[in-house]
Amino acid sequence: MGDLYRFIHAEKANYPITLLCRAMKVARSSYYAWRDGEAARRVRQMAADALAHEITVLHIASRKTYGVPRIHAELRRLGRRVNRKRIARVMRERDIRGVTRRKRRSLTRADKRARPAPDLIGRDYKIHLSESCDDPGASKRPHLITHVVTTDATVNDAMVVEEVHDRLTSKGLLPGEHLLDAGYTSAELLLTAPTTRGVCVVGPVWSNNTRQSASGGGFGKSAFTINWQAKHALCPTGATSRYWTEGVDNNGRDAIRIRFATATCAPCPVRDQCTRSTQYGRQLTVRPQEQDAVLERVRAEQSTDEWKDRYAARAGVEGTIHQAVATAGARRTRYIGLAKTRLAHILTATAINLIRLDAWWNETPLARTRISRLAALDLAA
Ligand code: SF4
Repeated sequence: MGDLYRFIHAEKANYPITLLCRAMKVARSSYYAWRDGEAARRVRQMAADALAHEITVLHIASRKTYGVPRIHAELRRLGRRVNRKRIARVMRERDIRGVTRRKRRSLTRADKRARPAPDLIGRDYKIHLSESCDDPGASKRPHLITHVVTTDATVNDAMVVEEVHDRLTSKGLLPGEHLLDAGYTSAELLLTAPTTRGVCVVGPVWSNNTRQSASGGGFGKSAFTINWQAKHALCPTGATSRYWTEGVDNNGRDAIRIRFATATCAPCPVRDQCTRSTQYGRQLTVRPQEQDAVLERVRAEQSTDEWKDRYAARAGVEGTIHQAVATAGARRTRYIGLAKTRLAHILTATAINLIRLDAWWNETPLARTRISRLAALDLAA
């Protein structure tokens, strides 16, 4: 319809508008309504072009990975309040697309008859605290809380780390080295954080705790040789795996399941050391090659004294959590709803920072670390 009105508008100098409208079979009133709205349309188009330019800059800066949610978050962070649907429309019209991880099938077979595990903790929310841990003597400032995240209790700890890095970056507080608890550390994060965010993540990773590794005499993952290019594994007896399935684990992280054929494992003389399954062959679940390599590297490093000394600086945050519980009752929320609880957590962190600054400026000595009676006996001996 717009083309017809544009044509009439272009020809109105040569022919009467009444004639043009009749020839084009459009109502004159509609043409005049279109004409009167032209200026507003042009302003809207210019605003859309300006927004598209901003989105394109952010999209390129993200190496063309950001989709609508991230672009929306970035614009908000820059102080631009733009409706999310409008961003989606502008991106759709200009074919600007983010990278979406393909939905992968889970490698876990759910037991449909199993009852859900009871909620033993009975907690609705979690607080995630970040604090500086530089040597106060050298940095000339106390340890202060730099960021607080409140999530539903069911959110996996590892899922909040990227958001924390983004927020600390926007505040100019991102450290060069981020010491994390084991729950927050993941192979993906260890691998990508230094390159994408410029922060070195230091945290323990779970040791290889399969039944076979724990028993000592069994064939753990280290007993197998994985050929990543050929996509198979060799077991200690020299047999080759048959199946190589790429998918995701229970937490949605990339994983590869390697399986040996039942016919291979059934007659194996050392089967008892390898698998308890009587129906299937041995099965291994591993991370993709780069992640597997980084996990093995960190597992080797985390047993060294040098790594332990470096990681010891993180211990202070346990005192911070205690302070949040003791001074502000952070173990329980006083409010219903995530938004109010989040506000309460921010106020808690602010109060702790003020207490610490007060102690720092008034040179109040820190409380001494409590030593259990057992440890005191050990020291005395
Ligand atoms: S049980 Fe299967 S995978 Fe394990 S050692 Fe024997 S043949 Fe190899």
